[in-house]
Amino acid sequence: MAPKSILITGANRGIGLGLLKHFLKVQDIKIIIATCRDPSKAEELNNLKDPRLHILPLDIDSDDSISKLYTEVEKLVGEDGLTVLLNNAGILLPYDVEGEKSRHTMLRQIETNAVSTGIITQEFLPLLKKAAAENGGEGFSINRAAIVNISSTAASVERIDGTFNGPLVAYRMSKSALNSFAKSCSIDLAKYHILVTSFCPGWVKTDMGGQNALLEIDDATKKLAGNILTLGDAHHGAYLNADLNVIPN
Ligand code: NDP
Repeated sequence: MAPKSILITGANRGIGLGLLKHFLKVQDIKIIIATCRDPSKAEELNNLKDPRLHILPLDIDSDDSISKLYTEVEKLVGEDGLTVLLNNAGILLPYDVEGEKSRHTMLRQIETNAVSTGIITQEFLPLLKKAAAENGGEGFSINRAAIVNISSTAASVERIDGTFNGPLVAYRMSKSALNSFAKSCSIDLAKYHILVTSFCPGWVKTDMGGQNALLEIDDATKKLAGNILTLGDAHHGAYLNADLNVIPN
């Protein structure tokens, strides 16, 4: 069994594109919606020919873009609703406590990583509720209805130990805020049986992770995609690494 539909944000490159490629290998997923800011420039994405793949524009920082996407997705998924919203899009702008003060740099990443992810999640709730009701069952399952957020171990306050502290200060703040939003959702949306889980994908060789990162995109996303497809009751409200182990907040 697999979710009927998955929507991935930031699917044109990096971890989003990697996850998408692995989900395309799962034939039971009937609708895969890959979103990106400018589909006309998403060359690799456009080369992935598959009738189940729908490429749609989305800038998560724009309410208008989010609501236009909702209208298109509603037409695609119909009465089945949307099974999985995978909030992957994110940014990292280096910020150092001992460096120059910049309200703008701090707020920019809090906006994209936490606020915009929160707004798109709220927008898609009707379609997620529809999927949860339509698919039925007793508890929580990735096959029923789910919000999966790509967070980061950097959000763990307990794990702050000096490694990369300088450049990651504002990014950490933004992902901690995202985790806080996700935990609240897991409690508030439990009555609809919408699973909510946050992941750190590991340190991956993407434009954001850089070439010194430990993991290749294909290896990291193969494991992550496989484990996402197993999510159930035990993972609701959790903040996990790619091996499904709990990361302390
Ligand atoms: P990349 O920088 O390679 O890709 C980021 C993606 O997010 C791009 O598709 C980008 O689109 C998209 N994006 C950024 N802002 C917006 C926006 N406003 N609207 C729509 N899309 C947007 O990063 P990664 O693939 O490495 O990161 C993916 C996720 O994983 C992020 O949330 C990141 O924080 C997280 N993560 C990454 C780690 C790593 O080691 N790489 C470690 C821990 C977490 P565009 O091409 O248009 O810019």
